[in-house]
Order: sequence, then C-alpha cells, then structure tokens
Amino acid sequence: MSSPLHYVAITATDGELIGYLWADATVVDLVHRSASSSRAYDAGTRWWRRADDARKRGLAPLGVLTLLSRESDVGPVTGARDLAAIEELARVVTPEDDRRLLDQLDRDNAGAWHELAEAFGALTDEDRDITWGGGQKQANGVYHVAFPLYSRPLKRAVAALSGVGAVTPEHRWVDSPMPQPSPDGRLSAADAVRAATTIVRGERFSDGTIAAAVQDGLLDAVVAALRAWYAQQAHPHHDERPLLMCRFCGGSPAADVSFRAHRGLVVLMGFKKADGPMCMTCGLAVYRAYTTHTLCVGWWSPLSLFVFAPLALVRNVLAVRRVKRLPAPGPGTLGPRYDPGVPVHRRPRAYVALVPALWLLLMVVTGLSGGV
Ligand SMILES: [Zn+2]
Repeated sequence: MSSPLHYVAITATDGELIGYLWADATVVDLVHRSASSSRAYDAGTRWWRRADDARKRGLAPLGVLTLLSRESDVGPVTGARDLAAIEELARVVTPEDDRRLLDQLDRDNAGAWHELAEAFGALTDEDRDITWGGGQKQANGVYHVAFPLYSRPLKRAVAALSGVGAVTPEHRWVDSPMPQPSPDGRLSAADAVRAATTIVRGERFSDGTIAAAVQDGLLDAVVAALRAWYAQQAHPHHDERPLLMCRFCGGSPAADVSFRAHRGLVVLMGFKKADGPMCMTCGLAVYRAYTTHTLCVGWWSPLSLFVFAPLALVRNVLAVRRVKRLPAPGPGTLGPRYDPGVPVHRRPRAYVALVPALWLLLMVVTGLSGGV
C-alpha cells in the first residue's frame, strides 16, 4: 500500500452512498457526499464518530479503515492519489440522488401544477423589475438595511414552487453549489428542484436571492424544467426507464444482465453466475473472465459438453451485446472499476475448448467413414 491516502466508501442500509472515510498517516476523517440526503448525512456523522472513537482508543488511522471495512455497509480499503481525488468522488451526483429529489415533487396535485403555470404566466415586467426599499440614512445617522420589494404576483409565483414540492429539505443546499443552466438556458428536473430549494430557502438568509434568480433567468429555467417534467409524467411510456447504477463501480448507465460460468469436470460440476446491473467496462470484464473460464473447464462431462457449457456461452454472448450497446460509464462512485483486459480470443486458456471440438469432429468423421 504505497498510496499516501486510503479511503472506504460508506453506504446506508437502504443502499444510498453516504460518503468516504479517509485516512493518511495521522488523520481519519469523513467526506460527505454533497448530493446525499439529510438522513445519509446524519448517518455519516455517526460513522465519523465511530472512526474517531476507534482512533482515540489508539488505533492507527489505516487500522481504523481496515477495522470498519469488515462491516457490510463499508467498501474495501482503496488507495487515493490525494484528498482532492476523494472530494471529487464525493461531488458525483448519482441517478439515485436525482430520483430522490424528483420523488419530492407532488405529481398527483394537478391544482398545484396549474397554479405554478398560472402564477408565472401572470408575471409582468414590473413584477420582474425588482426595486429595493430601505438603505436610506435615518435621523440617528444609522443606515437602514436595504431589502428587496417583491410584488404580490411574484410572491405568489415563488409560493407556487413550494406548492409542487420543489422546495424540499431533501436537498442539502448549504453544502451544494447553485445549479447552473446549460448554455441554451436549460436545467434538468432534479437540478430545478435543487435550484428552487436554494433560491427560496436562501432568501431567508440572504435578501435578494430571489431577485438575482429573476434577473439572470434562473427562476424561469427552473419553472420551465419543472413544467417539462410534469408534462412528461402525463406520458409515462415516454422514456421512463430508471437509470441503473453498476453494482461494482457505481457508474451509469448500466444494464441489468447476468453472466454465467460453467465448470464441467466429471465429478465436480459447478455453476457460477454474476448478476447486474453492470456498466460497459465492468460488464465486459465479467463477460471475458466467465467466458474464458467456461471455454477452459466447461467441457469435461457429457451433460456439460452438450448442454451446460454451450448454454452458458450463448447466454453470455447475448448478455454482452446489451452491455456493449451502453455508452462509456460516467464516474464510478463505489470505488475502482474492473479492468476488462484483453478479449477472449487473446486468452490462451480459451483455446482449451479446441480439444472437445476436435474430438467431436473426429467422432463425426470416423462415424461417417464407417469406422474405417
Ligand atoms: Zn462498473
């Protein structure tokens, strides 16, 4: 272990990724995932306390990670270049994070969505041209603090965001940057929830957050994204497939596939199966390993030769076609990714399969020639 830093990924009991406990020569600390839920954040704090207790009992930092990594919710101890690399991992937003926020939207409250459309449609240029009150010098020489004067229609429109569920404690906005629309002014629906929450909650701590969002167009992008999401809910057959996460590395997209390996020795018959979801990289790695294994040791019993080995090979080929159709996966969140290595035809072990194939050919030829 030559890396200066090590970390373990910590998962909640419901499968949500909480964050990363890391250790160097002197310190054990936790990096929370910025997009995690409030519940995961609290759970992370409890994990940090356990690590801290173990450290205070005299365990070395790396020893703390090793100890905790024996638990089922903790991943293997992994090396990292530096703390920045772990922090980058913690900034990854998973499809699961997006889905959790979209679940906060009240898709069944048609009245609230109607109100959102109405209230924003009714805004005039005067409503959008926000003036500030206060700021003048008072008789005692003290300046009155300036505050934005929001019109009644604008307040109604902002309230409508809460009405559809777009302002939610599920988004920990204090720890996250304000989402930025793409160059063509668009936001994803989940980012619209993040932005709506930050704008509306932020106003309580910092006057003028709403005014800024009105002026730079962010609020309009939020409403457009939310309304597009709601319109899509009305046509659920339109691209509703949930985004899967690779079970090995946490990358997306992933396909739900199974790969099989068969060992057909006369006395020892064995079946091995790996179930998805898997991303393209990890899926290809599992395919190559399992297929090579089957080609090498899959043949050595009659039932294996004619049934199990061919079946496993055909099913693997069908499954790998689905994995290969996936685009390259986004950043992994669970840890390192499997290395697919070289293709099956470049693995010497695979050519053991030529032995039963040649034997079969020999049987056929001698059969046809009448055993001459
Ligand atoms: Zn993967």
